[in-house]
Amino acid sequence: MFKRSHTCGDLRKSNLNQKIQLNGWVNTVRLHGQVIFVDLRDRYGITQIVFDADIYRGDFESIKKLSMEDVLSIEGVVRHRDKSAVNPNIETGEIEVVIADYIMLNKAAPLPFVLNNRNNSEEDLRLKYRYLELRMEELKHNILIRHKAYQATRSYLSNKNFVEVETPVLMKSTPEGARDYLVPSRVHKGKFYALPQSPQTFKQLLMVGGMDKYYQIVKCFRDEDLRSDRQPEFTQIDCEMSFVGQDDVLMLFENLVKNTFKKCINVTLEDFPKITYQEAIETYGSDKPDTRFEMKIFDCSESCKGKGFKILDDSEYVCGITVNTSEPITRKQIDQYTDWVKQPQIGAKGLIWIKHNNDGSFKSSIDKFYNHDDLLKIVGNFSEDSTTFLISGNKMKSLTQLGQLRLKIADDLGMIDEKKFCPLWVNDFPLFEFDEDENKYHSIHHPFTSPKDKNIDTIEKEPSGVVADAYDLVINGNEIGGGSIRIHNRDLQNQIFSILGFTPKEAKDQFGFLMSAFEYGAPPHGGIAFGLDRLVAVMNGDNSIRDYIAFPKNNSGRDVMIDSPSQIDNNQLDELNIKLK
Ligand code: ASP
Repeated sequence: MFKRSHTCGDLRKSNLNQKIQLNGWVNTVRLHGQVIFVDLRDRYGITQIVFDADIYRGDFESIKKLSMEDVLSIEGVVRHRDKSAVNPNIETGEIEVVIADYIMLNKAAPLPFVLNNRNNSEEDLRLKYRYLELRMEELKHNILIRHKAYQATRSYLSNKNFVEVETPVLMKSTPEGARDYLVPSRVHKGKFYALPQSPQTFKQLLMVGGMDKYYQIVKCFRDEDLRSDRQPEFTQIDCEMSFVGQDDVLMLFENLVKNTFKKCINVTLEDFPKITYQEAIETYGSDKPDTRFEMKIFDCSESCKGKGFKILDDSEYVCGITVNTSEPITRKQIDQYTDWVKQPQIGAKGLIWIKHNNDGSFKSSIDKFYNHDDLLKIVGNFSEDSTTFLISGNKMKSLTQLGQLRLKIADDLGMIDEKKFCPLWVNDFPLFEFDEDENKYHSIHHPFTSPKDKNIDTIEKEPSGVVADAYDLVINGNEIGGGSIRIHNRDLQNQIFSILGFTPKEAKDQFGFLMSAFEYGAPPHGGIAFGLDRLVAVMNGDNSIRDYIAFPKNNSGRDVMIDSPSQIDNNQLDELNIKLK
C-alpha cells in the first residue's frame, strides 16, 4: 500500500504538480477511450483520478475492470482539470490526479444495492449491509453531526463544572414507566439484572455523594411496544445538579441546547418561550406542541351552547381551530378530515365545520341551529375566507383530537416551515395521572419528581390537582428532553410511593437504597435528560432517529445485520437455569 499523503478531500490548486498518494474506494468509473476517469472516495471527499494510456505504464486494460467500491491505493501527480471539466460542487473540483501507479487493496463483490440513492432500496436490505450504507453521503453526514453533538455537549458541560460519570449497565429495574430488558445472573440463579431505562437513581445518589454536577452520554433501554421509529436502545444526555431550582436548570440547559445548535449546524436559537402544560394542552391539544405555525385551538364551549343543538349543549367542552389558507378548504377536504378524525386512532365522534366566506356569509354543518350572528360569535370576526373545525365532548379528549387534526392539516396544506426551529419549555406538569383501568395513580414523569412546594399540603387529599416541578423541552413538536426537581426528603418520598400504591415493604425492597441515602444528608437536586438521537435528527430537520444511529434496530426491533435477537444454545440456557417452554 502507498501510505497516503493526503485524504481524498484535501487536494487543491496549491498542490499542483506534487506527487501524492491516496487511499480510498472507487466511487465511479468513466471510460473515455484512452483515458479512464475514476472518482476515488474516502470519508473526507472525492478526488478525480485519471488513467491516461499515454502516461500510465501498467496494464491499461485491467483498469477497465475496476468496479464500484474496490479499495485502491494510488500514486500520481496533481494537475489542473480542463476548464470544461472543473466541478464547482466539490472542493477538489479544480484538480485531478494523473496516476503513475496503483495497487488494488481489495476487490469489492457486486453490491447488493447501489450506493447513490438510499430511496432505491428497501430499508431492511440497507440495514443488513449498514456498513455499505454508512459510506453514503447522507448517513456519513448524520453520523458526523452526531459526533459534533457529543463534542459540543462534553465541552459545554465540562466547562460548567459537570463531571462525566459512568453508571452501571447491569442494574436493578427503575420504574420509568416501560418494561425492563432483563439479564439473567448465572451466579445468582433465578435472579436478574435489569438494563437501565435511565440512570435516574444513580444520578440522584451521585448528588448525595457530593458530586454536585453530573452528566453522562448514556445508553438507555426500554422494552416498549414497537412503534415506528422507536429504538429499544437509545442515547440520553443525562444530567443532574445539586442546590438548584427549576429556573437554574432551565437556564443552564437552554444554553446547552443553544450551544449545540450553534456548534453543530451554526444556527442561533432565540430564547425559548415557556408555557405551562395546561396552556399547551388548551392551545395546541398536545404537551409537545409544534409551534412552527399558529392555528391555535380556542375554547368555544360557551358560545356554542343554548341554541338547541343537543350534541354541543350536552358536551363538557367544545374547541375549535380556524384554517386560514390562500386556497379555501374544499367540501371534499372537509369530508376527508371528518373521516380522518373518526378513525379509531383519533376517536372523534364527528367534526363540525363552519365556512366563513369572503363576502362575510357562512355555510356550516350546523346551519339548522346557528344563525349568522351565532356563528360569528363562535368563529370571531377575523375569520373571513377561512374554515373553522369544532370538536366536542370530554375536554382532554376533544383537545387531543383537535390537536392531532391541527398537525394533519398543517402538514397537508404545507403550513410548516421545515427550516424553522421552535423550541419551548413546557412546565408545570401534573404530578400524577389517574389510570381508570388499574384504578390507581401513576407518575407522569417518575416517582422521584418533586411536587411544587405550594401543593405539598394537599397531596393526599387531591393528588390529581398536584403540580410537579417538572419540565420538558420541545422542539418542532418533538419531546427532546425532560426532567424535574427531585424529592430529597425521605418522608415526602414515602408519601409519594404510598399514593402510587406501593406498600411500605414494596417501596423498601425497590428503593430502600435511595431512601436510606436520603437519611444521610441529601442535597436539594434536580436534573434533566435529553434524547440525543432525537436532538440530532430534529437539528437536521429529520424525523427518523434510525438515520442518526450507526447500527439501529429495524422497525420490529431486530438487528438484521448481526441477526439479533437470536437463539442461544442449550448449554447457555442450562447455565442460566432457564427452561424455554
Ligand atoms: N430520567 C428521566 C428520563 O429518562 C429524566 C430526568 O428526570 O432527568 O426521562
